[in-house]
Amino acid sequence: MTSSVPAIVVGAGISGLACAYALRKAGVDALVVESSARAGGMICSQRRDGYLLELGPQSFSGAAALRALCGGLGIADQVLHAPAGAPRYVLINGALQAVPLTPPAMLTSSLLSASTKWKIAWDAFGSSQPPEGDESIAEFVRRKFGAELLERLAGPFVSGVYAGDPERLSLQSAFPQVREAEESAGSVIRGMIRAARARKGPREKPTLLSFREGNETLVRALAAKIGAGLRLSSEVAGIQLRREQSKARFEVRIRSAGKEDVVITERLVMAAPAEVAGALLRDVSAAFEPVLCGIEYAPVALVSLGYILGDVDHSLEGFGFLVPRSSGLRVLGTVWNSSLFPDRTPDGYALLTSFVGGATDPQAIALPATALASLVHGEIAPLLRIGGAPEFINVQIYPRALPQYNIGHRERLVALDELQAQTPGLFFVGNYLQGPAIGACVEQATEVAERLRASA
Ligand SMILES: Cc1cc2nc3c(=O)[nH]c(=O)nc-3n(C[C@H](O)[C@H](O)[C@H](O)COP(=O)(O)OP(=O)(O)OC[C@H]3O[C@@H](n4cnc5c(N)ncnc54)[C@H](O)[C@@H]3O)c2cc1C
Repeated sequence: MTSSVPAIVVGAGISGLACAYALRKAGVDALVVESSARAGGMICSQRRDGYLLELGPQSFSGAAALRALCGGLGIADQVLHAPAGAPRYVLINGALQAVPLTPPAMLTSSLLSASTKWKIAWDAFGSSQPPEGDESIAEFVRRKFGAELLERLAGPFVSGVYAGDPERLSLQSAFPQVREAEESAGSVIRGMIRAARARKGPREKPTLLSFREGNETLVRALAAKIGAGLRLSSEVAGIQLRREQSKARFEVRIRSAGKEDVVITERLVMAAPAEVAGALLRDVSAAFEPVLCGIEYAPVALVSLGYILGDVDHSLEGFGFLVPRSSGLRVLGTVWNSSLFPDRTPDGYALLTSFVGGATDPQAIALPATALASLVHGEIAPLLRIGGAPEFINVQIYPRALPQYNIGHRERLVALDELQAQTPGLFFVGNYLQGPAIGACVEQATEVAERLRASA
């Protein structure tokens, strides 16, 4: 069976859904094709035994595009804000210590030596320029602020965002605003302050957000708005490009319930993970595959443990903690879910979600779920003075959790742009392009929808 539609979006994670929703609002009836039985991709919330589990992202930050989207979907009243002033901790010398979040707080923190503080002050008042070419995050932090800041703060922060390896992550790709700050102002601190002042819109204290019924509220609302335009349990199995004079038509082969049909479109948005997009575009041009499939993804195991509150001697006031690699622990960090948002557990319990694996310990995800749960319990129990065993356990494994914006990532994206320019009607959205955060995915998906609409 063959039919045709104005646009097809391959993949119904947040990137694909946000793009399709923006297209439909602009009058382009996009068909979203999703291989799994549910929409949302990595964003998945489940209620089980009185716990509200986040099986992917634990929370998100309030980017402008995301706020606008929640407003448009009518779910802004369901947004929950984590306590803005709550501390974040880092494990130093066997104890959890509050992370200083601003340069003045760093200058007075007992976490950093006088020599590191001097380097921070030197950045604020002195002048420097980044070297020609790309720099890894580790090289950058060592050059500007020294090895101590890398080990105690920057390294743990990088595993919190990318589950990545700071020796391999590219500063200009993973944190472009930091490189731009040094380039434009001769100082990271002055450049970041200048950029914050220039930002339009109301200034709110940054904090983490979720929804009363979990992060999946966002993707459920998008899926409901897209309605019959969303085909679940339907895998895109192949894509052919037919060029006719100035026009290009994509023939998209869709497999569902053991049958295949072909849908034809002139506008195709790839919203699947990079390696899927690369493989599917093989017949359009063999050049896509090495560019897209070469993007490394870090594996992550997410271990959620529920404890009787009375068994936990720590106050659990705060967001949770991050763990420097030099500590020798395998846990990368732990989010204190029940301290961030209400109604995450049955009364009298605490829910703590820990991350294990990442680019620096990829083999960890091969451990059986029971071994991962006891590893995490064994490492966090002494830190939080937990006296009893977990009453609830859930382990979620992502062999390909987060794309790594490693050295060379920018060149890859330039190559992708060039290939895309040779294929009119083809667009890309996804977490390997402009940042892995949900807000960045929404922002990019909205921009791409606008570009597609303008090209139609
Ligand atoms: C463990 C973890 C923790 C995270 N924590 C945070 C956080 O705290 N805050 C934050 O902002 N972000 C966080 N992120 C990142 C964020 O969740 C993701 O970057 C984002 O959800 C990715 O969305 P996406 O739509 O680009 O990709 P995906 O969610 O991967 O969606 C891609 C979709 O394509 C579908 N697909 C694949 N192949 C095909 C095919 N052949 N045909 C049709 N469909 C196909 C897939 O089934 C999937 O639904 C986290 C991610 C992980 C894994």
